[in-house]
Parts: sequence; C-alpha cells; structure tokens
Amino acid sequence: MSINVTSPFMPPLEEFQPYLEEIWKSKWLTNNGKFHLQLEEELCRYLGVRNICLFSNATLALITALQALKISGEVITTPFSFVATTHALWWNGIKPVFVDIEPRFLNINPKKIESAITSKTTAIMPVHVYGNPCYVDEISKIADNYGLKVIYDAAHAFGTKINSKTVLNFGDLSVISFHATKVYNTFEGGAIVCHDDKMKLRIDRLKNFGFANETTVVAPGINAKMNEVQAAFGLLQLKYVDDAIAARQNVDTWYREQLSGIQGISLIELPENTTVPYSYFPILIDEKLYGHTRDSVYEFFHTKDIFTRRYFYPLISDFPTYSELPSSNKVNLPVASHVASQVLCLPIYPDLKKEDVLTIASHLRNYGK
Ligand SMILES: *Cc1c(COP(=O)(O)O)cnc(C)c1O
Repeated sequence: MSINVTSPFMPPLEEFQPYLEEIWKSKWLTNNGKFHLQLEEELCRYLGVRNICLFSNATLALITALQALKISGEVITTPFSFVATTHALWWNGIKPVFVDIEPRFLNINPKKIESAITSKTTAIMPVHVYGNPCYVDEISKIADNYGLKVIYDAAHAFGTKINSKTVLNFGDLSVISFHATKVYNTFEGGAIVCHDDKMKLRIDRLKNFGFANETTVVAPGINAKMNEVQAAFGLLQLKYVDDAIAARQNVDTWYREQLSGIQGISLIELPENTTVPYSYFPILIDEKLYGHTRDSVYEFFHTKDIFTRRYFYPLISDFPTYSELPSSNKVNLPVASHVASQVLCLPIYPDLKKEDVLTIASHLRNYGK
C-alpha cells in the first residue's frame, strides 16, 4: 500500500446525509445560505476571531483581501511558500518584493524587511509556514512605523495560537485555506479573517460581484462564494477537527522520537508557548553530513511507494514569472535557497499508523547503508 504525503480527514458519510437532505429540501445552494451563516458563526467561536468571510478557496480569498485593502505598488513577501501567495499579488498588478526567511521556523525574516521598503511599498504579506507563527510582534512594529498594511497568508495556520491566543488576529487580514490537503478541509475552501464589521461587509460584497443589493454594484467584485455543500461539510468537519489535530500530534511525536540523532537530518523545533496544528512534518537533509542528496532520498521513497513532497522547492522566486525580479536574485535569498535545497516533507495525516512512521524513519536511518 502506498503512503501519500497527506490524506484528508473524512467524517462518517452517514453523518453527512442529513445535511444533504436539508439542502435538497430547501433548494438553497449558495449565496448566504443557512449552513454558510452557521459555519461563519461556529468558526468565529472555534478560532476566537470577530469576523470570518467564507470563500470558495484561499487563492481567491488572498486576491480579494488585497482588493479589499486597495493594495498597490510593491508588497514585501516570502519566496518560501506555495505559489498562490505571490500569484495573488500578480493578479492584482502588484510587484512582489522577496525578502529572505529566518533559519529557525523558515518564515519571513523581520530583520530583513526594513531594507526592502521603498516609496512604493504598501503592504507586507508574510506566511505562517507549516503553521508555525511568524515573528508577528516585530512585523506589526515595522508595519506601524512605515504605515504598511499586513495580510497574513495563514493557509497553514488553522488553530495556531500564541499564548493561547489565535495568530489570526494579527495583521489587518488573515487568509486561511480549507483545501483538501489542509488540516481542516471543506474539499476546497478558504476564508478571510477580519477585525471590524465594515471590512466584513466590504469583503462579502467583493466576493459576490460587488453587489450591495439587488441593483447596486459598489465595486468590481469577483465570484468567490462558498456553496452550501462545502459549508455543511465544514460544519461536520468542525466536530472532528480537534481529534484530527490530536492524531496529527501523535504522528509528530513519533517522528521526533524516531528521527533524533540521525547524522545530517535536522527537524524544525516546535515553537514555545504555541499551539500548532501539525500541518506538515518537514525535515532538512544536509547532503554532506547525511551522505545523500535530498532528491535521492525523495526518489528512494518513491520506489517504496512513499510519497514525500519538497515543500517549498523550487522557491516562488525561481518560477519564470518572477525569476527576473531584482529581489529574486539568489544572493538576496541565501537562507531560503539553502532550505529549499534541503527540505523534505514527510507524510503526516490523522490516520497515519505508527508502524508506517517507524518504516519511514528506518528508511531514513538505513538508506544507503
Ligand atoms: C494551500 C495554500 C494556498 C492556497 O489555498 P487554496 O485554498 O488551495 O487556494 C495559499 N497559500 C499557501 C501557503 C498554501 O499552502
């Protein structure tokens, strides 16, 4: 049997049936239906945030978040992320300015942000990579000093808390993803977290073509609404998400026990005073100490039907659309370039068995020996 890097948590099918029957009965399929409203309420309570705007996916949520804040010019961001982070800027005609990451949690390095600010900079778009929080206080301070907006790509950060407080309340807006590969999924889906009610209204209009009422269009909006089937599925998923995260935590613990002390393999530490959703399990493979390249390990796992992923390689700054930008120069991004050449994300999902973790760990311990 093959082991994928992730496998979505699925609630019992029979528990989804009543939701579907209700949708069939009401024939209300989208546009602020009952389940949509209920999911917004329950997610606000679960996550500890004031407002949530549900979306059909997080990429459209990122694009809309930038529209909602009228961001233009240049935005400072990280090259060590999924491409959608920077694509959202491109779709808004914004020039991305890449800043290097810090070596501990692989998030944007706040010490490198100030020197990247120009007269055209309007915002910072950091990513809570692997669900580990950015240095949010430092980022807030810089944004306040320079009058910049902050939009967090919090796609991995469902449930991330610092000192028991959600990380989603930092910055002007945060965007979470409910894609099938994420910790909490609605097949596809996403949301913008915002703090004030006027902003929620603005975002809700933007995701529905800009309609304020039947005959008034206040802005050139898009269609990015979450439908009732997704929202109903989200409600059911919410009942199981704590169990799913607890099961992921077990996998994380087993890996840490098994992988400590292997020459040339290092792990990302768990941040202090922080609750994380155990979204990913990245390791760094130092070719010189380990004796094999990251790519050869990746290929070897393939032959064993174990599918790891090189998140995030290549760097976004190395893709053709962005590679000619001045900030994409490798000299500007030494840590990100180094990490992208070493990183390998191991399988992690709620029903991954301990024996599978032991098998993966023993492959890493014994590869080439
Ligand atoms: C998954 C992901 C996205 C995109 O989310 P979708 O819901 O698939 O559109 C954006 N940014 C990051 C960092 C992601 O991992």
